[in-house]
Amino acid sequence: MSANLPFLPFALPEIGDEEIAEVVDTLKSGWVTTGPKTKRFEEDFTAFLGDPGLHSMAVNSATAGLHLALEALGIGPGDEVITTTHTFTATAEVVRYLGADVVLVDIDPATLCIDVAAVEAAITPRTKAVVPVHYAGLAADMESLLALAKRRGLKVVEDAAHALPTTVGGRLVGTLDSDVTVFSFYANKTITTGEGGMVVTRDAELAKRIKVMRLHGMSRDAFDRFTAKVPSWYYEIVAPGFKYNLTDIASALGIHQLKRARAFQQRRTELAALYDEALAGLPVVLPPQPLAGEQHAWHLYVLRLGDDAKVSRDVLIERLFAAGVGCSVHYIPLHLQPYWRDRYDLKPEKFPQSQRAYERMLSLPLYTRMGEADVVRVVDVIRAVLA
Ligand SMILES: *Cc1c(COP(=O)(O)O)cnc(C)c1O
Repeated sequence: MSANLPFLPFALPEIGDEEIAEVVDTLKSGWVTTGPKTKRFEEDFTAFLGDPGLHSMAVNSATAGLHLALEALGIGPGDEVITTTHTFTATAEVVRYLGADVVLVDIDPATLCIDVAAVEAAITPRTKAVVPVHYAGLAADMESLLALAKRRGLKVVEDAAHALPTTVGGRLVGTLDSDVTVFSFYANKTITTGEGGMVVTRDAELAKRIKVMRLHGMSRDAFDRFTAKVPSWYYEIVAPGFKYNLTDIASALGIHQLKRARAFQQRRTELAALYDEALAGLPVVLPPQPLAGEQHAWHLYVLRLGDDAKVSRDVLIERLFAAGVGCSVHYIPLHLQPYWRDRYDLKPEKFPQSQRAYERMLSLPLYTRMGEADVVRVVDVIRAVLA
């Protein structure tokens, strides 16, 4: 059936002539590391979110951004940070960088995002922060989570790696009342700079700390207090910071990817709707839908096999690959990963929803360069296997 078709990858970025021209311009300008293009990308990002009170800070990955966010919030040894087991290890590993402990909780099967009741049950006197993930681009239950965090005095850092653009109550993720939000521009995310991320906060003090720690703990502020004339060569090291700045080459891509973010999201939404329609009637559980009027970033299209499916998820993935279709699984939950499992003695029984979803899920190809025929091709294979 599809033997002669070229391989359909699981993900592909869409890089246009404007991105390429901007990168070439950057290379010719002689300014290749953090400079004017990165400043512009940050300003454009704040404008995109539509809230001038926000500080947008470009970093070389979302992982770096999450690390900076938790560091600025003062997370350290003895503290606990609660997050979802159903995520990429980056969400949790940054907590360990800081010597704090990760407390993993289960997901809500209706959204595949963190279960807020499970968060509440996991709070101890050591709990300092919660890191929700807007899984696949669908918002976590932020209303309940932010209310809980406020009531219990917890910080909230949103892992928004999948969530550009996603809305909650009509507001874009990045403009909610959490402490910090972190976006990813990794190669397969909804917009890409190859590698990169953006840290967003409304809190000026947190922004100041994040900026200093993003670049070696360097500060020019101390000098500012005593003289209006800061020599260009002068700086002070106020902490052992990190090397997490984004290059202008990457920001050149980001400036133009960001301009296309809404069009990309529309295309992803169309493709997701085509999948929904084509998959109807098969023994599958379609991805959770956003509430009426909300935007879903559709970073991933996550299908789950129904109880009546006659093959396993692994067999379906094998058959898709055999037919030239790439797919993936998001995620092997952290409670099954050797490091996390052994570090915290985690048992699958503690995470029944994540475990069940994991065993039945696969992520189908979803990216703007796909056509309707590609969706039909993928679903034809699934139908042939399942029907
Ligand atoms: C991609 C991803 C990250 C890490 O992003 P990088 O920019 O690659 O560091 C973190 N969390 C989630 C949920 C992700 O999907």
